[in-house]
Amino acid sequence: MSDLYYIDTHVHLNDEKLLIHLDEVINDALNNGVKKMFIVGWDKESSEKALELAHKYDFCYAIIGFHPCNIKGYTDVEYNWLDEHLSDEKVVALGEIGYDFHWDTTTKEEQDIAFIKQLDLAVKHKLPVSIHSRDASQVTFDVLSAYSEKLVGGVLHSYSGSVELAKEYTKKGFILGISGPLTFKNARVNKEVVKEIDLKFLVTETDSPYLTPHPYRGKENGPKYIPLILKEIADIKNLDESICQEEIIKNVKRVFGV
Ligand SMILES: [Zn+2]
Repeated sequence: MSDLYYIDTHVHLNDEKLLIHLDEVINDALNNGVKKMFIVGWDKESSEKALELAHKYDFCYAIIGFHPCNIKGYTDVEYNWLDEHLSDEKVVALGEIGYDFHWDTTTKEEQDIAFIKQLDLAVKHKLPVSIHSRDASQVTFDVLSAYSEKLVGGVLHSYSGSVELAKEYTKKGFILGISGPLTFKNARVNKEVVKEIDLKFLVTETDSPYLTPHPYRGKENGPKYIPLILKEIADIKNLDESICQEEIIKNVKRVFGV
């Protein structure tokens, strides 16, 4: 029997779309060899749900934190809750946190404060961070660079930046989360990133229910599709899928400890 399996390092099983048929979503994932799933929160409520599911299922872990679009009105009440729950045994990282200038729900200043507060909590709890960055690549990099010495690690979730920036991140010890868009025919830059960056800096994720890979684009995404993303990585790197699986299992252990 082989010890190889697939890992979804960023999935929103706590999203209403997946919750309504969670048994099916989980069974499909397990039947496709996906044996570890990191459920990611975006606000207090979804983080609570992530914790609840992580305690219900052995193979699920929680990443809890507050997304830059969801921090409006958050006070010490929410941040103290986060601080308390980061020591939970099923929490493997703090996230998803970062910057998002695509939506207009929060100001840059509000996002700065929330990001810094949560980076400080990650340092305090010696946890890696799961980073969301949209239309904000430079400022995200600048803040993370300043924290790279103090942080135990971090993943650029669903990385979609340039090869140059990816190299700068890996030099500072960060890793990249590779998701469904890699499988799109026109994903030239994503493919170049996977080609150029050493496998030891890559992990797989779906970001379900979003970012469904080819050929299911337009349908709901699920952790069951991780094998499609891994196969694309193996094809681009011209390596056996089993070698990629083994390496990604190692990377996840190194960064997230499970
Ligand atoms: Zn996400």
